[in-house]
Amino acid sequence: MRGKDDATGVAGPVFGIEASIIFRQARAANKESFPDLPENDPRILEVPDSVRDKARAEYRKAVSIWEQVLTEEPEALAERYMEGANFLSESLGPGDPQDREISARWLSKRASLERNITTPFARKPIGPPNPGGDSAINAPLAAQGKGYFIFNYNAARAYGRPQLIKLITSLAAAWSARHPNTQLVIGDLSQPGGGPLPPHGGDHQDGREVDIWPVSNTGGSEPTNIFAPNYSRDLTTELIKLIQQTNPNAVVYFDDEQLVAAGLVRATLDHSNYMHIILP
Ligand SMILES: [Zn+2]
Repeated sequence: MRGKDDATGVAGPVFGIEASIIFRQARAANKESFPDLPENDPRILEVPDSVRDKARAEYRKAVSIWEQVLTEEPEALAERYMEGANFLSESLGPGDPQDREISARWLSKRASLERNITTPFARKPIGPPNPGGDSAINAPLAAQGKGYFIFNYNAARAYGRPQLIKLITSLAAAWSARHPNTQLVIGDLSQPGGGPLPPHGGDHQDGREVDIWPVSNTGGSEPTNIFAPNYSRDLTTELIKLIQQTNPNAVVYFDDEQLVAAGLVRATLDHSNYMHIILP
């Protein structure tokens, strides 16, 4: 998704390259006028204001497109802002007040995105807090069973209250009866005794919460997310309904907008590649 423009030396996203090309063309024209000058002579590097304006407009358009495309990927968007600011200062030169203003705005947007990235779980926790050492949170989920396996077969983070373990094993068995060839992938529950479970912030502390992967359309137990070509909304919807049949008190958090609109799940902000299920 990135390119490196030789003339400017600026690495830019695909949409930003248009702006770089405008510059390269202007400099190639300069070179034709002064064929004997070296590439880095100010008379070769100099571009007219009209070219500057065009490149700036192209880059602003590029960034606004990225803002729409990357709403779910703050890290990538933060990088686009940085590339854009670099382009304006390095290619257009630091002198232009309008460029400086745009750069500053992009960099401040980037900074606020990065604050959210470094504290990804700053949102309100979904489940209740628990300091740990709670003897009620000692039921283990086996690394694998009928219709499921735990991601990486790591059962150290797969303890919960008995009703949570029962929900998962009953759900997986019911799923297996319908889809014998597709095993569910189970993510984190809680650690034995509960308590904070990095990197889940306030979640997964009280033995009531489990992460389960959405279902792919390939029949395999593989990673997917709501934007991926291998995501099956139909099968994932079936799984969510089965969860709610297995335990009507279960609440599913997941960011598929259509499923949110249908009232099947609740949106969070950070659950596009796994579902988070909580029991009261
Ligand atoms: Zn979770």
